[in-house]
Order: sequence, then structure tokens, then C-alpha cells
Amino acid sequence: MTTGASDPERVDLEVDYLVIGGGTAGGVVAARLTEDPGVSVGVLEWGPDDRGEDRARYLRRWAEMVESEYDLDYRSVPQTRGNSGIRQTRARLLGGCSTTNTMISWRPLRADLDEWAELGAAGWDADTFQPYFDRLAIPIHPVATADRNPVLADIVQAASTALGLPVQERWNDGRTDVDAHGTGFFELGYDPATNVRGSTSIWYLHPILDARENLTLVTGARVTRLLLEGGRAIGAEYRDAEGVVHVARARREIVVAAGAIDTPRLLLLSGIGPRAVLEAAGVPVAVELPGVGENLQDHAEGLVVWETVEDPPDISASGWDAGAMLQVDAGRPERPDVMMHFPVEAWVEHPKNHGIVFPEHIVAIAPNVAKPSSRGRVWIASPIRMPPPHRLPLFHRPGGPRRADAARRRARRAGDRRGRAVPQPHRARGVPRRRRAVR
Ligand SMILES: Cc1cc2nc3c(=O)[nH]c(=O)nc-3n(C[C@H](O)[C@H](O)[C@H](O)COP(=O)(O)OP(=O)(O)OC[C@H]3O[C@@H](n4cnc5c(N)ncnc54)[C@H](O)[C@@H]3O)c2cc1C
Repeated sequence: MTTGASDPERVDLEVDYLVIGGGTAGGVVAARLTEDPGVSVGVLEWGPDDRGEDRARYLRRWAEMVESEYDLDYRSVPQTRGNSGIRQTRARLLGGCSTTNTMISWRPLRADLDEWAELGAAGWDADTFQPYFDRLAIPIHPVATADRNPVLADIVQAASTALGLPVQERWNDGRTDVDAHGTGFFELGYDPATNVRGSTSIWYLHPILDARENLTLVTGARVTRLLLEGGRAIGAEYRDAEGVVHVARARREIVVAAGAIDTPRLLLLSGIGPRAVLEAAGVPVAVELPGVGENLQDHAEGLVVWETVEDPPDISASGWDAGAMLQVDAGRPERPDVMMHFPVEAWVEHPKNHGIVFPEHIVAIAPNVAKPSSRGRVWIASPIRMPPPHRLPLFHRPGGPRRADAARRRARRAGDRRGRAVPQPHRARGVPRRRRAVR
């Protein structure tokens, strides 16, 4: 073993398939591949094992990991039309963001999948893809009766009345193929009896980690570079927690599953990407690939807050158990463009950092643009730059804020219907009682 640079002759791990990132996707890929005892699989995960970490086990504790030691906590670059310095929480932990997210679980919308296929993503059309969702090993259940917060139930009724939305008890039974409008409690990836979350680490990796000899998991392994031979990836260089450099090789394939920001970052650091970006960063071009880092999409979310006389009771599965799907641009009910979360405890950290103060007791609706037309990007500025600059998508195109404004107006309409809240949305006074993080 060496530090600083790898010795290409030395190989610390050699497998058939090398999976980079033991997160949401990487966990499933590794579990499925190792079903065949004839192949070997290695997983290189930057973060630690999640076994023994209670915050990672119970869905209700997700927010405790945001801005924790497991959070990469990226920021968007300054942008002239808004979205500057937005915190992007990304989990660096076995199971990835499935270990720290709210587990709201949708069967992917048929209309979206078919659109991807039309745009050239062969094999991602609904008929081909949806059966894979139906094979998911994680438990997905409607929010249990015991977890249903009465204040959220009120907001659901108010949203239904104000916005003319049907109240949904189920979302994943195929109805969204035809009409995805609605409001209600969500279906969550969790066990209602225990609140154990449906992360891919718990449901795919934990049961096999000690049982399958053809699976090697290396945690604390940050991949810094893909190793290429003749323009083909044949291995990866990674650093352990002490900074020691190691080499892993794949006899067959490498699957890069490091997430929406770190996957393009790793490719770019390896010289794979748009020539102009690589040259500006001083990284030698290995494979010119224009799309790397482009077309970042995200559902940027706003927050409309009402002052209340008391906090909602602390009854919840995830804290973010209900919401709505609707369409601002009418005409395609199977393709909603706005989604709303109805949180039990709203996070107010970001507006607070911008000087906005809140009353002691609030309820909130968080509307997001589920189908933004604008696009962001991720790039590197130098061979070692950390974290990677990235631009969030919401306000780049003229007309971009229109859907966000329309979403906010509808959220106000829904919340104003709620009898127990003070009728006018709150405008900026007081101090929030709890510290909440940006999702
Ligand atoms: C707070 C929050 C709430 C969310 N709520 C929901 C929700 O309710 N429903 C929903 O559908 N989606 C939700 N999402 C989104 C969803 O969780 C993500 O889209 C999904 O988990 C991403 O999966 P992934 O496999 O692409 O990446 P990740 O799960 O992030 O996995 C990437 C893995 O790669 C590792 N990694 C990164 N770089 C390297 C490297 N260089 N070397 C080695 N390993 C590396 C990371 O440590 C991580 O484990 C939420 C996300 C967040 C952050």
C-alpha cells in the first residue's frame, strides 16, 4: 500500500463487477448481481456502515442526519436569478440517501417513463420498467392510522376543497397511470409496526453482507479516479479514511452509482466529460463526452407558513407524511407538474439564514415544481476541487418562476381553508421553536 499515488501494478481488490457507491441504487445493483454465485461483486462506499446507527434505522429520525457527520451538505453557486447557496443534503453512508430520506414512495409515473423513452432512453418505457418497481424488496405502505397527524388530515381536507383534488388513500395501485391528481397521506417505504425505514441498505444489503461470499463491501472508501485502458474503465483508485490509496479492478464492468452530484464529479475527475469543462479545470481529456454534468433537474421547494396557536401534535411516521399532486398547466392529469408536502414540522433553516424570522407555532405547506423546465449543471473547477460547483435549475429560463409562483398561490389557497390556522399566511415575525433542515 502507498499513500498519495497508486501503484498500477498493485491491486487490492479484484472482482467481476465493481459498484462505486453503496447507496440507493448501488445497494440494489450489488444485491441483484450477487444472486448469481458465479460472479463476484465489490462495493466501494465512501461513508461508514449504517448498521448500529439508530438514526439510520428509524424513519422518524431522518432529519437528525441532515447537516450531520453523514451529510456532504453541498451548496449551489451564486446565481443571478435566485437559488444561490441552496443547501443540497447528500448522504455519505451505506444506503446513501435512502438511509436519510423521507421514503415517500411513488410508482414512477407512466407518462414520465414514456417521455424518457421518447427522448432516447431505450428500455426505460413504462411497460418495460414498471415491473421492476413492482419487484422492489422494500415494504411500501400507506401511512398507518396510528401515524396520521390530525392537523395534516385537516390540511388534506382543506386542499381537497380549495383545489378540487380527490382525497387519495392509495397512490401506487396503477391509478397514477391515468390520473395522478390528488391529496392525501402518502405511501411510505417503512414498516408501520416498527417505523424501520425501507432503505436499500436495510432491505437489500444487511441480509446478505455476511451471507454471500461473492460480495465484498469496503466502507470508508472514497473513489477518486476511474482507471482507464484504451478509453475503457477497468478499475478505480480509492482512498481509505487514513488517506491511503488503493486500487480495485473489475474483470467485467464498473457501475458508477455515486448519486446525482458525485457521479458526474467522479467522471469529470477521471477525464470523462465535456472538453471545455475538463480543460478549464486542468484535467487531461481521456474520453470526450459532452453530456456529463449537464441537465441537472431538481424539485426546488418553497414554503408557505401560517401562524397557529399551538404546534401540531407529535404524531407522524416521517414528519412529511402527506401532500398533494396537481397540475398548473392543465390538460394532462397523468402528468402533474406541482407537488406539495404537508410537513408536521416545517424546516425553516434556509429562510432563517436569509434573515426571515418565524412565529413560535406554525404549520406549513411546501410546494415544489415537480416538472421544472429549467436545467442546472454540475462541473469541476480543478482536479481536486471540493465540493463540486453546481447550479440549481429553477430560475434559469424566462418563465421558470411561473410554475413556482402558481404552486405557491395554490398552497396558500389550500392552507387558508384550514379553520384552525390564523387565516393570513405568516409574513416574518417571531422565532421558530425547532431547528429544521433543508431537504
Ligand atoms: C432529505 C431527502 C429526502 C428525500 N425524500 C425522498 C422521498 O421521500 N422520496 C423519494 O423518492 N426520494 C426522496 N429523496 C431523493 C432520493 O433519496 C434520491 O433521489 C436517491 O436516494 C438517490 O439515489 P442514488 O443511488 O442516485 O444516490 P445516493 O443514494 O445518494 O447514493 C450515492 C452513494 O454513493 C456514495 N459516494 C458518493 N461519492 C462516492 C465516491 N467518490 N466514492 C465512493 N462512494 C461514493 C455516497 O456515500 C452514497 O452512499 C430525498 C432525498 C433527500 C436528500
